[in-house]
Amino acid sequence: MMTLEEALAGKEMPLEIRQNQALLDLPYWGFDGEMHQGQLVIQRELAAEVQAIFAEIAQLRFPIAKMVPVVAYAWSDDDSMADNNSSAFNYRFAQGKPKLSYHAYGRAIDINPVQNPYIKGELVLPPGAVYNPEARGTLLGDGPVVAVFEKRGWTWGGRWQRLSDWHHFEKADAQIEALAAQATPQTTRVVQ
Ligand SMILES: [Zn+2]
Repeated sequence: MMTLEEALAGKEMPLEIRQNQALLDLPYWGFDGEMHQGQLVIQRELAAEVQAIFAEIAQLRFPIAKMVPVVAYAWSDDDSMADNNSSAFNYRFAQGKPKLSYHAYGRAIDINPVQNPYIKGELVLPPGAVYNPEARGTLLGDGPVVAVFEKRGWTWGGRWQRLSDWHHFEKADAQIEALAAQATPQTTRVVQ
């Protein structure tokens, strides 16, 4: 298990974002039918809510493959997704957009990317993943896990029209929406 400092290491980001993150230890059911302890980095003000969300997900016995902060993948979202890792904070741009992702603020969570890929036309992330509603660990529009998020005002990427981000949940915020649009690429530079 990591400390918050370890979970934020090696990534340059504005101080106010760094100081706004919390590290949660979250129990979850694995695909192996055993309880595991995972960790998510999330915006501080959402910590209690996210704790409650994952307590409900555990009660549902919804299986999660893995839950490790993205620093373990040298901040590579591609590598994290390919490993079917569930994660939250990552100081990065939104997929295919010149604006910061809600992940950059700790206000987005991805769950089981291999069962719930990002699909936009021909682009599938992680590559080769398939969205199969029958498979275990898949998020469904009329399913209980999506409901756990939506009843708290989170948006699910599986409901979007121009693309499907089946693994993605975010908690929208008008102030962050405006800030994210102003961010420059230099601010995502990785320092080791
Ligand atoms: Zn996401």
